[in-house]
Amino acid sequence: MAETRNKLRPAISLDDETFELLMDCVHCGFCLPTCPTFALTGDETDSPRGRLYYMRLLAEGRIDPNESVLTHLDRCLECRACETACPSGVRYGFLSELVRAQLVKQGKGPTRHFKLQEFLIRHILPYPDRLELLFLPLRIAQAFKATELLNNVPVLSRAVNMVPPLPSRRWRKLPQTFTVKNERKMRVGLITGCINSVVLSRTNWAAAEVLAAAGCEVVVPPEQGCCGSVLAHIGYLEDAKKLARQLILTFARYEPLDAIVVTAAGCGSFMKDYGHLFANDPHIADLAEKFAAKVKDFCELLDEIGLPTPLKPLSGRVTYHDPCHLAHGQNIREQPRRLIQQVPGIEFVELPEADWCCGGGGAYSLLQPEMSDAVLDRKMANIKATKANIVVTANIVCMMQLWYGIRRHRLDIKLMHIADFLRAALPE
Ligand code: SF4
Ligand code: SF4
Repeated sequence: MAETRNKLRPAISLDDETFELLMDCVHCGFCLPTCPTFALTGDETDSPRGRLYYMRLLAEGRIDPNESVLTHLDRCLECRACETACPSGVRYGFLSELVRAQLVKQGKGPTRHFKLQEFLIRHILPYPDRLELLFLPLRIAQAFKATELLNNVPVLSRAVNMVPPLPSRRWRKLPQTFTVKNERKMRVGLITGCINSVVLSRTNWAAAEVLAAAGCEVVVPPEQGCCGSVLAHIGYLEDAKKLARQLILTFARYEPLDAIVVTAAGCGSFMKDYGHLFANDPHIADLAEKFAAKVKDFCELLDEIGLPTPLKPLSGRVTYHDPCHLAHGQNIREQPRRLIQQVPGIEFVELPEADWCCGGGGAYSLLQPEMSDAVLDRKMANIKATKANIVVTANIVCMMQLWYGIRRHRLDIKLMHIADFLRAALPE
């Protein structure tokens, strides 16, 4: 393999094993129809095959990371739909994350033209107390129904449209333990998340209550922080690892735990990979491996242990949007559908292109707003076609993006995280 590489100094350096992963792509093109950015532009360089080829040329030193190359790499949503479609098992997400991390070190990451957004993503979003402070004007504006006043404030203007009504701050403080309602099946830790713990703090409560009703003693470490996924997504891998390490050490103090449950698909997908992330760090490799092996998405665990019965009937025509990092990242598709359909009284309708990205993509909507909106519009057209009056999903970023979509398209649809939906079906 090594002799196939060019002798010029490459812009990115991949070890031989990783370079071989790039070579797994046989350019068949099966992934192209599943790629939301290729669907928008029709440009090969906005497709998985084109981006993988760019990565290879960069690694071989045959092209420079010039503005045109970077633009096409930046436009990737990291939705990983191409991985699901690929018959050769190309690990697109893994490769893209590695390449982005190297480009970031050279000042060529996706945030290079967006200094304010970079600050927000690196120094505000992963820290709930700072995020709470940033959202204070939004909280006040929401309380006085005057959010349009913030439409001209940089960054906040996007947040105004994307953040659903913020729950009262008292919901952020969860009890450290939720006791089991009936027969105790297991003891689990609950990840409350960073953005999740501010924007969807009530959802964290709902998740804990549903788990407790289903037989889990739920432990919520109060000192936990961000898992790092939002940073890793855009190439800040070292920053992400610092946060991941803290999270692993925090949860180690609450062992024994049978599972570590998360309600955000992007976080779950990243945390399941902690073993690999720290494989070369002897100080934490074992703990990281053990942590990763226990990570379960909320839907995944509930489907395994079973919902509490009986459930209260709800009403409505309900559809479900697959978060990319649940469907493509963790192959969790049937479980949420099975859970939703166990709630009596509702009519479930399948969403066309349910696992097509909504355009949220971690921090993508902040960095690529036009592309993000265009991907969202396709999703909203599909949602509209179902005539559903309730849309259920299972990820914080999808919740925010779909909330924005519902407002953008002026739809009369209720949006619910699956934990809130199932909580509503628990008998009082
Ligand atoms: S991750 Fe998504 S946007 Fe990126 S290349 Fe793959 S399918 Fe396209
Ligand atoms: S990534 Fe997979 S599906 Fe896409 S062109 Fe390469 S081998 Fe084919």
